[in-house]
Amino acid sequence: MPDFRTAIVTGSTSGIGLAVARALAEAGHAVMMNGFGDPDAIEAERATIENETGAPVGFHGADMSDPGQIADLVAATNAQFGQIDIVVNNAGIQTVAPIEDFPVDRYNLILAINMSAAWHLCRATFAGMKARKWGRVINVASAHGLVASPYKSAYVMAKHGVVGLTKTLALEGAEHGVTANAICPGYVLTPLVEAQIPETAAARGITEEAVIRDVLLASQPTRSFVQPGQIGALAAFLCTPAAAQITGTALPIDGGWTAH
Ligand code: NAD
Repeated sequence: MPDFRTAIVTGSTSGIGLAVARALAEAGHAVMMNGFGDPDAIEAERATIENETGAPVGFHGADMSDPGQIADLVAATNAQFGQIDIVVNNAGIQTVAPIEDFPVDRYNLILAINMSAAWHLCRATFAGMKARKWGRVINVASAHGLVASPYKSAYVMAKHGVVGLTKTLALEGAEHGVTANAICPGYVLTPLVEAQIPETAAARGITEEAVIRDVLLASQPTRSFVQPGQIGALAAFLCTPAAAQITGTALPIDGGWTAH
């Protein structure tokens, strides 16, 4: 079998997904990027990764909250690369609010993007992986797929759901060369976390500096943020032959947070 595969990385125009896309391309895999943002900036990022790694890199702007657009993403990736071997479900959003004030439209969107999108994308790609006897599902869940924090009801629900999906697909793929694992990062200083600092300050009635010191990094015994590239490296490792027996796991990369 070839060492180089074809991957979709959802939500890869920013933060963790961008680092995963780069790491997979550096390992030689073709990558279909996805996500929102300024079209010129996305094209510049796509071209940079392609030029620097030599791996083919595409982009499709599917809104992962829409199953019809997820189907388009799958069709476009098959048309461009011929098959889909690696699916990295990474697109995600966050809202921080007490449940009694939690906006219902944000609840629905968080469940759609952070959880249901992974189910739809796996549903559309799993048969091909099984038929070719090789596949990797990598779900970027969260430490919040394993433990909870207050004011993140929808996010914690969705991430626990993704861990459940991961275990189920590990069992369905086990005899077909298809592994499924969840990566569970602690805090990574990406736009998603930067945006929740003022929301958390408001929900807890404390300053933004106190949120970073006493809420975010207080959870992580290392007292420092996880780096996006560290998550990219773990995702790339999960696609190597050395990781073929790692399946059904929820792998923390959280500076010791979930060891508490
Ligand atoms: P980010 O905001 O930097 O990136 C999110 C990505 O998702 C962007 O590319 C954005 O365009 C894309 N996206 C958002 N809505 C989308 C939609 N409807 N359709 C398609 N793409 C969409 O955030 P990040 O911190 O890199 O988060 C990536 C993943 O990692 C998320 O699932 C998040 O829950 C998870 N995570 C993040 C942290 C953290 O501390 N940053 C910790 C644990 C888990």
